[in-house]
Parts: sequence; structure tokens; C-alpha cells
Amino acid sequence: MAKPRATLIRPEPLPESISRPVVTPLSPSVVYASETPDALDAQYEGRTQGYTYAREGHPNADVLARRIATLEGVEAGLVLGSGMAAVTAVLMGLCGSGDHVLGGDQLYGRSLRLMAEDLPRLGIETTLADPTDIAAMEAALRPETKLILVEVVSNPTLRVADIQALGQLAKARGILLVVDNTFTTPRAVKPVDLGADIVLHSVTKLMAGHSDVTLGWVGANEASLMERMTTFAVTTGLTPSPFDCWLAERGLMTFDLRFDRAQATAAALADALADMPGVIRSVYPMRADHPDHNRAVALLDGQGCNMVTFEVSGGRPAANALAAEASGIAFAPTLGDVGSTLSHPASSSHRALTPEARSAIGISEGTFRVSVGLEEPKALIAEFERAVRASQAV
Ligand SMILES: *Cc1c(COP(=O)(O)O)cnc(C)c1O
Repeated sequence: MAKPRATLIRPEPLPESISRPVVTPLSPSVVYASETPDALDAQYEGRTQGYTYAREGHPNADVLARRIATLEGVEAGLVLGSGMAAVTAVLMGLCGSGDHVLGGDQLYGRSLRLMAEDLPRLGIETTLADPTDIAAMEAALRPETKLILVEVVSNPTLRVADIQALGQLAKARGILLVVDNTFTTPRAVKPVDLGADIVLHSVTKLMAGHSDVTLGWVGANEASLMERMTTFAVTTGLTPSPFDCWLAERGLMTFDLRFDRAQATAAALADALADMPGVIRSVYPMRADHPDHNRAVALLDGQGCNMVTFEVSGGRPAANALAAEASGIAFAPTLGDVGSTLSHPASSSHRALTPEARSAIGISEGTFRVSVGLEEPKALIAEFERAVRASQAV
């Protein structure tokens, strides 16, 4: 007689254990089984707590969301499939046809594209203005302005937005202030303490920190805002996979240590670069020669950021020689990895701009941005000394 079949496909309870795992278990299950239709009603109506379907929510996303909310000092947060999913959940989840959105003029490239192309297509008008200039921001407001989106430190020019004044302006006008805190992180700035209603992150960068996961996060104190963004994200499928959340939580455990180390090295590298022959300028917010130095000191809580921007003389040929010589540093347009990365805005993030438009914001063919990682500081500086020397020998 044939043996009974299909014995594998039935619920198999987990082995009992009165001790608990110290690491958040990975829960890749897409679906969650409930006892009865009544039990499911109770779940959907919020009388009991339970998961149903992973796009709607799962334990790994919720644990990660809470951890980042704790760091940012906000009531609640939501993890999304990417930083851009977080930007989208805010802008499209909260704004509708007829609304106006004011953005910083040096936002992340895809955020700029969303503002310029996609929101107008849906009837949401947008304007960009300089967030370091509060008068310019105020002048760009309209009666129908619903939301202001800014980053604290701009890429790659590292200008520092006047978040405190923007918080006051937004409050006075009843406009939502949204801060993308990806570069600065809650280690340096907690935007909600400065008047922001919503804070968001590309968790892909410093928070997860190992360039092996793409995720975003958005948080707010007001439950009704979270509810609207969450519903939009769940409906449109902006929500993340459990494995990505689990990996990001692992990375997040060392976030404070990584940030402190990287920003201290960044400060040292910025000073070293400023003294190297052939370097026209070294840009770092905590340096006294930075245009927003005083604001950075007041805003960044004694921290800096892990980004340094510098310019070498000699144009594109010098830039090619520099990138080729700096072989120990990944020439790659990302940031926040354990290893330093070098990017060249004129050929990557800012390639769509004309040379004149780039020059207007201080980007030339000799401009590089460094995301400083965890290398031994002296070795990293030595690598740049060699690379800058090679660039000047062209
Ligand atoms: C990378 C980045 C984003 C987008 O994040 P993804 O995870 O790549 O989608 C948004 N804002 C800033 C400031 C970023 O650096």
C-alpha cells in the first residue's frame, strides 16, 4: 500500500522554548492564519492585534520602524521599500490635486524628478526655493501650499537648511514641514524637535549602513498623518520585504558607532584636503570657512556629517586621474556604506544639468563628493594624498 502523501503540507508548531531568541527572528511568511472569521473581524477592527498579509504589515518591518522612531524621538514610524518609497508615501499619500508643494532646490535627484514631473501630472503644483534662505522660502509659499520638503544638508554642496526658521514658518502658516534626514541622521539632528511634522530616511544609506539593502522610513507624532501614509503605502505596495528589514535592523545596531567614527574621520579628511596642493576648496559644514558654519554648529549638536566635498584644479582630465588613482575607494554614487565611496556629481547625480547650472551651485568637473566610511583615518587620508597628487600630475 502507498504511504500517505502530502504530510509535509500542514501546520507544524515551532518547538517549545521558555528561553527567547536575543535577535529578532526573521519572519518571511507572506500570510498569517487566523482561527475563525470572528477572530479575523476582531483583527481587522483593531480589537485584537494580529498580522494578515505581509504587504499590510509584518513583524520585521514593525520592529525596525519602532527602532528608528526611538532614534528620531517620534511616536510612530513606517518602513518602506526604499527611500524614494518614503518620499512618495509622504507626497502622494498626503497631497492631492490642487495642492501646492514647496521643495528645497537641492533635493535628492529623484525627489526633484518627482516634484518636477510626477506631482504636476497628478495636479499637484510644485516650486523649488533655497532652504538656506528663509525669505526666499517664504516668498515661494502660496495659499494652497500644503507641504514643504527639505533636506538638512544638501548634496553635494553641503549647504545647511535653516530648519528652525522653517519650522516656525510652517507652524505659523499651518503647513506641514517634512525633513529628509538621510545625510544628517538623528545622531546629529532630530527634525521633529525643531518643528518638523514628518521626518523621513533613505535607510539604505547610513542607518542600514552596509550597501546591501534598499529601504526607507517615515515617521511622525500625529497618528492621522501616519494612518494616511500607511494606507497609501499598503495600497500602492510601497511596503518592504521582511528579509530587508531584518538585515537593516542588524546594520542599525552599530549605527551610532559607525556615524561617530565616520564623521570624525570626515572632519579630519576635510582639513587634510584643504591643505593639499591642487585642492581649490574643501567643503565641510563644521569647518570655519563653510558658508553655513554657524548654523551647522548650532544645528548639528556637536556632530558633523560623514560627507566631504572637494574640488581639484585641472577639470575632467584631473578628475579621471584622481578616481583612477584612488583605487582603494569605490567610485560609486552612493553614501553611508562601511567603506568610503567617491562620487563625481558632474558625471552622475548632476549630469542632467548644464555646466552653467552646475557652476551656479558650485559644482565643476573637478568636484568630488566623499562619503567617508570606517577605514583607518590615516590610511584614508594617505589614499587621497596620492590621488590628488596624481590628479595634479596630468
Ligand atoms: C538615497 C537618497 C534618497 C532615496 O533613497 P533610496 O533608498 O535610494 O530610494 C532620498 N533622499 C536622500 C537624501 C538620499 O540620499
